[in-house]
Amino acid sequence: MTSYQGKCHCGNTEWSATLDKEQQGHILCHCDTCKILSGSVFTLNQIIPKSALKISKGESSLGKYTYYGESGKGVHCYFCKNCTSHVYHHQEVMGDDKIVLRTGLLKEGLDGTLKPAAEIFGKARLGWEKEVATTFDTLPPS
Ligand SMILES: [Zn+2]
Ligand SMILES: [Zn+2]
Repeated sequence: MTSYQGKCHCGNTEWSATLDKEQQGHILCHCDTCKILSGSVFTLNQIIPKSALKISKGESSLGKYTYYGESGKGVHCYFCKNCTSHVYHHQEVMGDDKIVLRTGLLKEGLDGTLKPAAEIFGKARLGWEKEVATTFDTLPPS
């Protein structure tokens, strides 16, 4: 277990995440929602227990945006109300104790220490993007 530090763009919000060895890499998501929410071509994520994330500064600065996924269940996105950086998402379909952490905002995500571990929703990958890790068409079989 290693502790990683993250902060939003404006610095109002800071957090630490404790990641197991198998969580110390990015899951790239190519789905259209990730493209639109990030304004980019994929997002960098890891699924972690909710208890592994500690908001150390500015918890009250976080806003919540909810959309409904293909399952019909809510996906709650927590973001800095000032600069709009997305810190983490909670998908109801995963239960109460799991969250999706945006690993690209961790210091080790920004400096390249964390590497791609897998890619999901590869079917929505843009044609000019190279594959960088094991890719699943949608989600890995559970
Ligand atoms: Zn911010
Ligand atoms: Zn996605």
